[in-house]
Amino acid sequence: MQQERGSATPLRIVIVGGGTAGWMTAAGLSRLLDPRDYAVTLIESDEIGTVGVGEATLPHIKTFNDMLGLNEAEFMAATQASFKLGIEFVGWTRDGDRYIHPFGTFGEPWAGVDFQHHWARAKLAGREVAPLQDYSFAVAACRADAFAFPDTDSKSIRSTFAYAYHFDASLYAAYIRRWATARGVRRIEGLVLDVARDADTGHVRALTLKSGETIEGDLFVDCSGFRSLLVGQTMGVGWQDWSEWLPCDRAWAAPCERDGPFTPYTRATAREAGWMWRIPLQHRVGNGYVFSSRFCDEERALDTLLGHLENPPLADPRLLRFRAGRRERMWAGNCVAIGLAGGFLEPLESTSIFLVQAAVTDLANLMPVPGRPIDPRLAAEFNRLSAIQYDRVRDFLVLHYIANAREGEPLWDHLRTMALPDTLAHKIALFEESAAAPSYRYGLFSRDSWLSVLIGQGVEPKGYGRLADRLPLDVLEVRLADLRARIDGGVATMPAHGEFIAGYCAARP
Ligand code: FAD
Repeated sequence: MQQERGSATPLRIVIVGGGTAGWMTAAGLSRLLDPRDYAVTLIESDEIGTVGVGEATLPHIKTFNDMLGLNEAEFMAATQASFKLGIEFVGWTRDGDRYIHPFGTFGEPWAGVDFQHHWARAKLAGREVAPLQDYSFAVAACRADAFAFPDTDSKSIRSTFAYAYHFDASLYAAYIRRWATARGVRRIEGLVLDVARDADTGHVRALTLKSGETIEGDLFVDCSGFRSLLVGQTMGVGWQDWSEWLPCDRAWAAPCERDGPFTPYTRATAREAGWMWRIPLQHRVGNGYVFSSRFCDEERALDTLLGHLENPPLADPRLLRFRAGRRERMWAGNCVAIGLAGGFLEPLESTSIFLVQAAVTDLANLMPVPGRPIDPRLAAEFNRLSAIQYDRVRDFLVLHYIANAREGEPLWDHLRTMALPDTLAHKIALFEESAAAPSYRYGLFSRDSWLSVLIGQGVEPKGYGRLADRLPLDVLEVRLADLRARIDGGVATMPAHGEFIAGYCAARP
């Protein structure tokens, strides 16, 4: 039966929290839902700050921004953003090693067969073949510190990459906030002190603020950060702890001025008890050291961070504490957790903001109908989808750590020898046997992402998909050489990353 729009009293959606998650949720829902049916209110408190880090993203963020109708050049100028073509991993197998996880594909499919099978076949046959990295356009652009937009309308090699952004997370939240409040989202400044629940259903009915004001709602979105005020504290949903596989639980963060190159990629450098990020923005570089307190105390970690900055810090370093894992359920009763309130995975692959975006889209799709009780099947489906998202990202992150050769460093020794999640052990075994890498229709990560990290970490295929045999080896060798020439030729025409941004942002309307 067709749902008639605007016929019932609007469903009152109350979002608690005004960090990146809260404002992305407010903006996304107000854009995706009919305002005659859904009224969105957001409560945030100046007394509790936001996390304020979260500067590297995945290409999906562009879909989110486009959905809101943001002007890209204006958004980039407002958030001091730069372009991101991937992540460079330095020292993750041993000191000095490096590889890039690019946004885009390796090579092209030939004879209907994915590129990595041809590559593995040529390699196993002892033919002239370069490292897999050399067959990615995005990797070549990263190495040249170059940027230009992908040529998505063509079938050329310039269509084989995608891009994301680095941006100042606080500026992004403020930018999205202006967008959302200008489009009808009601913003309330106040500290939530009390939560009233319905005696029969256990659903949240109203929130009481420090000012004494009471805010009633039908659906509550918990974006309260690590506090998890509604789903964790009020509804008592348990926590699935993943620190066994992802033992990093602290980060020191400090920005500094840029000295080094204006790279169109994030750098993640392995260190004794974790890893350091370097994220170049227009006005500064974001740096942080993610580490495990089991293997390094906070003071020593701070020394490590400060000892590796390219310039003195622009602000006092901030310490952030966290646990890897997720809520058993993201949606309980009439409360839905999005962002840090629902889970945390270390920022190694810049996944948190993506997980927020995915949750907002899924919630909009599964939004309860105004005037009707919430069907528990909506919650069950949302929880199923969220679990898929988080569990897959977890496996991908763990993959970065396990095949290291950093012998004698206790954190890395532990990671190399620990028992793996069954799902990950299966994926690695399958890749070794047949060069097959996971490819999902829903959720992260794509096949090429898996390939970059599997091979980057030294996991080599011993076989390949036999359909690749249809291409004669001599033909294959010629195609491989031609592919590399097209990549090099394409990158040679691109401007430097910094030059491109200066021109693009200056030319904004
Ligand atoms: P927060 O930013 O903590 O916001 C919580 C909000 O809830 C605040 O507005 C607060 O005022 C409000 N609040 C809480 N309690 C109450 C109350 N009682 N009453 C009223 N309001 C309340 N993500 C990426 O995608 N890429 C990255 O590169 C990345 N790097 C990261 C690095 C580190 C070290 C960490 C810790 C996280 C990183 N993240 C990254 C994650 C990213 O920062 C978060 O996912 C994102 O900022 C969302 O945070 P949030 O909005 O859920 O929580």
